[in-house]
Parts: sequence; structure tokens; C-alpha cells
Amino acid sequence: MRLITAKEIYQAKEENKPIYIDKDTIVTPLARDIAKENNVSFEDGSSCKKEKVEVVETKECALSEDEIYNILKLGIENKFFTEKDLENLLGKEDEKKTSLNIIPVGISGRHVHLSKEHLEILFGKDYELTPIKNLTQPGQFASKETVTLAGPKSVIENVRIIGPVRSKTQVEILTSDAFKLGLKPVVRLSGHLEGTPGITIIGKKGTVVLDEGVIVSQRHIHLNEEQGRERNLKNGDVVKLRTRGIRSAILDNVSVRVGDNGYLDCHLDQEEANALGLNSKSYVEIVR
Ligand SMILES: [Zn+2]
Repeated sequence: MRLITAKEIYQAKEENKPIYIDKDTIVTPLARDIAKENNVSFEDGSSCKKEKVEVVETKECALSEDEIYNILKLGIENKFFTEKDLENLLGKEDEKKTSLNIIPVGISGRHVHLSKEHLEILFGKDYELTPIKNLTQPGQFASKETVTLAGPKSVIENVRIIGPVRSKTQVEILTSDAFKLGLKPVVRLSGHLEGTPGITIIGKKGTVVLDEGVIVSQRHIHLNEEQGRERNLKNGDVVKLRTRGIRSAILDNVSVRVGDNGYLDCHLDQEEANALGLNSKSYVEIVR
């Protein structure tokens, strides 16, 4: 297949030659108009292969968007290729698959989830948390209230409470916090608290001593059912992530959490994100 461009027509005009075409030549409407304006004629070049090859080899194609569009349209109409072939050729299919695997990053700092019972001990009977910011996971919010964490070695003040209340109190800290407090850092998924260290939580009105419940959050991906289906991921799967940038890395052991109320997000803790050069506007890619 050969395309006649405006440039070729101007060249033909300058050389005072006709343009040779055959059944495999596409003359775009624009090229045809320019030829007419410049009195350049088209001649049957089926028996003039040499001339044609020379033209193709010496001409550089500079096509306008309209020309490209018309060529592709003609190509499809003449069944040179299908739309599907074009998508494959342009890598659109791969692009679709890749884009589904690129997901946003959510970064968590230290925070506390409280049971209703513990909230009342720390802040008083029938106390309700005051939301100040909604989090990406639907229904979750950062509250105005904070607590103090007291470990065997030291304390950390102003630790944010994430609402609403849960069935069990859980304290999520960073690895460096564990060292500061004098606790062993235990990396776990939310809710998996057996055998984790305890801590003392101090509120405005009272104190709670936990026997267990302090974790360093294990990285994970949240999805809802549909997002899981689209990506062929189910609850409990473990995948790898690829990150980009100067500190790019492949991350193993990323747990998949599919829930009705999930929101597409990859949760990393603040320290991991810092180590990888990621922030809350970053994206990562699921690789399998
Ligand atoms: Zn999470």
C-alpha cells in the first residue's frame, strides 16, 4: 500500500511530472484537492514500477491528522485490516490490560481504631467521634480526637483515631514507633491480632490497657467485587507490585482484600512509602 501526500504533489509540480498511481495507491481527499489546484495529474503507474519505488523510497511522509484518519478509514473500508488489527498494532489491548493493573497508592500513618467500649472508657459514656476528614475507604474517617500511646520505653502523643468504632481495638504504628515505644514490631493485616504486643492507650477521661492489638500494617490492596473480577483478583490472593521512579522496586507479599465496600487503593505505611519514594498521588502496578 502506498500513500500520496501533499508533499509528493508539490514535488511532482516542481519537477513538472505526473504522479503514478495504481490500485494499491491511496490518494487522500486533501492530496487530490492540492493536485487539482496545482495542475498535477495522476497517471496509471502499473507499468511504471521503477518510478513508483523511487518515489516511495525518497519521500518522507508528513501526514496531517485528517490524512491519517482518512487512510485508516479507507484501510478498514477496503478490508486491508480491521479495527481490531489496528488496536493490536497500536498496542491498545495491552494498554487496557496494563491500565487495569495500575492502581493508586494510599498511605497510612500511625492511628488507632477503637471499640465502642474502649471509646467510652477513654472519652466518656456515649461519646461519639467527630469526623474531620473522610478517608478513601468508604465510611472511614479521621476524627478530631486523638490519644496517647504509652509503651515500656516511651510515649507517643496525638495519635489520630480512625472512625467509626470497630468490634475490636487495634493500634497501627510504624516500625520506628515500635522501637521508640519499646515494642516488638509485628507486621500484620488488619484484624489479625493474635500474638501481637499490647500497649496502654490514654484518653481525656480514662486509660485502656491492651494485652494485644498493636500491629505494623502489612501492605495490601483494597478492591470491591467488580474491580476484583475485572482484574481477576480474589480475596486472599497475594500479588507483587512494581513501583516507578528513582527508588523503584518490586514488592512481594501484597495481600488482596476484596470487599463489598472496598475502594481501589494500595495501602502502604508511611515508612514503606518514604523508602520507595512514593506519596499519596503515586500509582503502582500489579504484576503477576
Ligand atoms: Zn487498608
